[in-house]
Amino acid sequence: HTNEMELIFDSRSSNESFARVTVAAFMTSLNPTVEEVSDVKTAVSEAVTNAIIHGYEGEVHSIFIHGRTQGSTLFLTIRDEGVGMENVQQAMEPLYTTKPELDRSGMGFSFMEAFMDKLEVESEPGKGTTVKMEK
Ligand code: ATP
Ligand code: MG
Repeated sequence: HTNEMELIFDSRSSNESFARVTVAAFMTSLNPTVEEVSDVKTAVSEAVTNAIIHGYEGEVHSIFIHGRTQGSTLFLTIRDEGVGMENVQQAMEPLYTTKPELDRSGMGFSFMEAFMDKLEVESEPGKGTTVKMEK
């Protein structure tokens, strides 16, 4: 059977671990391996951090996570209604960052891609960003 959840929380960095742990708890019904849980936590962490620092540029607004389990697959959507991106393809390139001064390394999307089985990013300038992932 399928199972679904929705999580809405403030874009504070203190909520990043809340999001990570909540998604990990949600996926336990799939009987994941320790490594699978760790991979998903890393990916959630990267996407939520991006929403906080890039999407909302440090302002506090809502971040939305939708989770669904179906069969043995976890489907995740992590969304912000922040500034969005002009060029998603460029943003997803390894080492690409618009915030080098904040010590970002431009590896967030590469990690999401490496640790998840599927990654899809939709973004519109001024509207926000949606990151869809599967594991
Ligand atoms: P790192 O994740 O290694 O700390 P980073 O966040 O800059 O560095 P990525 O996570 O790969 O690297 O993101 C690349 C770029 O894509 C960011 O620098 C930013 O310009 C843009 N970006 C990512 N997520 C968002 C978002 N939610 N809203 C707006 N821009 C984003
Ligand atoms: Mg990042």
